[in-house]
Amino acid sequence: MREINTSQIKQAVSDLCQKSSYTLADGVMDLLRGALKNEESKTGKEIITQIIGNAEIAQKEKLPLCQDTGIAVVFIEIGQEAIIVGGEIKEAVNEGVSQGYKNLRKSVVLNPIDRINTKDNTPAIIHEEIVDGYNIKIGILPKGGGAENMSAIKMFLPTAKKEDLIKFIVETVVSNGAKACPPLILGIGIGGTFDYAAYLAKKALTRKIGAKNKDTVELEKEILSQVNKTGLGPMGLGGRVTALAVHIETHPCHITSLPVAINFECHAHRYQEIIL
Ligand code: SF4
Repeated sequence: MREINTSQIKQAVSDLCQKSSYTLADGVMDLLRGALKNEESKTGKEIITQIIGNAEIAQKEKLPLCQDTGIAVVFIEIGQEAIIVGGEIKEAVNEGVSQGYKNLRKSVVLNPIDRINTKDNTPAIIHEEIVDGYNIKIGILPKGGGAENMSAIKMFLPTAKKEDLIKFIVETVVSNGAKACPPLILGIGIGGTFDYAAYLAKKALTRKIGAKNKDTVELEKEILSQVNKTGLGPMGLGGRVTALAVHIETHPCHITSLPVAINFECHAHRYQEIIL
């Protein structure tokens, strides 16, 4: 057993909120540099050049990568041998978000109907998972509204073929992708239930860029190839590079179900994590 105080969690969340506002997730810059070489459209090349320049300035000056610093989506993996002391985890996370967003845009409304801003970017969206071990892993994925709003889910019949799933994903990119600030990273959840597929799609975005899921690697390649043949291109203004990466997570599901969810992520993919 190992004790972890909620004050450590609060500070870690605060630091991650700050860092993620100005730092691209590991590997995104390499993908952007690769995209710059691959892009043939003049406008597309200019856009990617600006995106890279913007990211370099953000990192150097510690300034937000985008005006939309997002709603904080927090993934916490709690080792079952860790003992949390000093208070409640959720409270510590929200205090950390509040502290970490002090000088960032506050983008959360308390009630989706009345839409009154909470003024400290809380509450965060928190996903908790119990895992083996005695550590706590905290990941922060700030989600801008532009990309998040373009996301979609479809409940397929179990008779659907792989081609039907790909068609749905590619058609959704064509219809929605330009508003999500491409080049995109696509998180895709397949299986589970309606709600769980959406969770998987978001969770897929937390996978390290370049890390392979052996069960889905071929499907990811196929979808990336087809998405990049749509011609949507950087910022939807035409070109070869519509998406930088496709990440898929799957889960067992009911014999009659086949949910497929797409969570759009823009080029400002700012996921950061720490292990306590
Ligand atoms: S989709 Fe991303 S890059 Fe576009 S405005 Fe939102 S956070 Fe910024």
